[in-house]
Amino acid sequence: MKGFFSKEQTTKADGQMKGYSCATCGLYKYTLSPKMNPYGKFKKGIMVIGEAPGEDEDRRSKPWQGKMGKVLQKKYKQLGIDLFEDCVSLNAINCRPVDDKGANRPPTDQEIACCRSKVVTAIKQYQPKVIILQGGAPLSTMFGDKWTGELGGITKWRGWAIPDREYRAWICPTFHPSYIERQEKESEVHALWQDDLEQAIKKAGEPFPEYKDEEKCIVTTDDIEGTLRKFNTPSMMAFDIETTGLKPYDTSSHQIVSISFCNNEEEAWAIPFPKTKKELKLLKKLLENPEVKKIAANMKYEDNWLTVLHNIRTSPWLFDTMQASHILDNRHGITSLSFQSYVRFGVPEYDQEVSPYLKSSDSHGVNRIMELTKGKASFRKLLLYNGIDSLMTFRLAMAQMKEVGIA
Ligand code: SF4
Repeated sequence: MKGFFSKEQTTKADGQMKGYSCATCGLYKYTLSPKMNPYGKFKKGIMVIGEAPGEDEDRRSKPWQGKMGKVLQKKYKQLGIDLFEDCVSLNAINCRPVDDKGANRPPTDQEIACCRSKVVTAIKQYQPKVIILQGGAPLSTMFGDKWTGELGGITKWRGWAIPDREYRAWICPTFHPSYIERQEKESEVHALWQDDLEQAIKKAGEPFPEYKDEEKCIVTTDDIEGTLRKFNTPSMMAFDIETTGLKPYDTSSHQIVSISFCNNEEEAWAIPFPKTKKELKLLKKLLENPEVKKIAANMKYEDNWLTVLHNIRTSPWLFDTMQASHILDNRHGITSLSFQSYVRFGVPEYDQEVSPYLKSSDSHGVNRIMELTKGKASFRKLLLYNGIDSLMTFRLAMAQMKEVGIA
C-alpha cells in the first residue's frame, strides 16, 4: 500500500526528517561518548530502544549501565533473556543530554527528531525480529514522524505487539524501567510491564505474518446493481459509507457519496452510492435483509445517515468494532479503525490522503468530499479508501469476536 501512504514529501530515504541532523542537535559536542553505537550480541534478534544515555552510560560508553539499567537487566534475566547477549540496545537519542548543572535531563522533541535517522539506520542494519520500546522517547522516535493522528503517550501504545510492515518487525512498546521504579511494589503497573515484556520476547520466536497488499483486496466498480445483488446472500457483512459531513440532519445539504461491503478477509467492494430508485430499492433490500448480519466501525453513524436520508432501517446489526475495542480495552484513544488496523495488522494510516477532504468546520457542516468526485482518479481513491475501511472493519470484527468468544 506504499503509494497510498507515501510520506516522501517530508522524509528522506533513510528516515531522517528534513532539517534534522547531528549538526542541528549538537549534543555530541558535550559528551564523553558522543554518538554512541548500538551495543549487544543480538543472539535472539531483539532490539531494545531506551530513552537516552545517563552519566554511567556516557562514562562507560554502553547502554543500561546505571541504576535503571540494572533494573532492566534483572527483569530481562527473570524472563530468560540476557540483555547484552540476546539483544542489541540503543537509545532514542545517543548522546547524553544534560541540564545547566550537568545533571541528566529528558531529551527534547527536537533532539529525538534529530537522532531518528540513527535509530532507523540501526534497525535497517540489524533487521530485528522484535523492537522493544522502553518508554515514551523511543515511542516518539518510531511514530513521531509517521503517525499523523494524535500520538498520545506510552500508556496508549504499551502492550500492543505491532506487526510493523516497514521494518518487518514486531514493535512492542512498554514502560521505561524508571517509571516502574516510581510505582508502589504491588501496583498493577508491575504486572503490565511483565506481561508486555513476556509478550515481546515470545514474539521473537514467531514468524512475521505475511499480508496481502490491502489495495489489491479492493474492487472498485460502477456496477452498483451487480454489487448490491452479489452481497445480498446469507452472510455476515461489514459495510461503510462516506458522507458529506458528520451529521445528516440538514437533508438539503447532505448526501452519502459512496458505500463499500466486505464479507471475507481478502476482498471488499466499493461503489458510488446508489442514486436511482431501482438501486436504492436494492440497497434497502440488502441492508434490511434479516439473513445478512451487519458489522460496522461505529454503527450509529451508518444507521443514522441511512435512516435520515433514505429511510433504510439497517437490520440486523451483529457487531460494532468501535464498541468492542472499548469493551476489550478501555484506554483512551485506541478505538479508531485506523489505530486498530495499525496495532493489530500493521496497516499504516491509510486515510492520510483522503482525510483532509472529510473534515467539516462543525458537526453539521459540509466537508470537501465532493471535490474527490470530480476526477476519475480522485474518485477511485475515495472508493479505495472506503473499501479498505470495510475490509479492515471485517478483519477487526473477526479478531475481536474471537477475543470475546462469539466466533
Ligand atoms: S543525540 Fe543523536 S542526533 Fe544528537 S548529536 Fe548525538 S547522535 Fe547526533
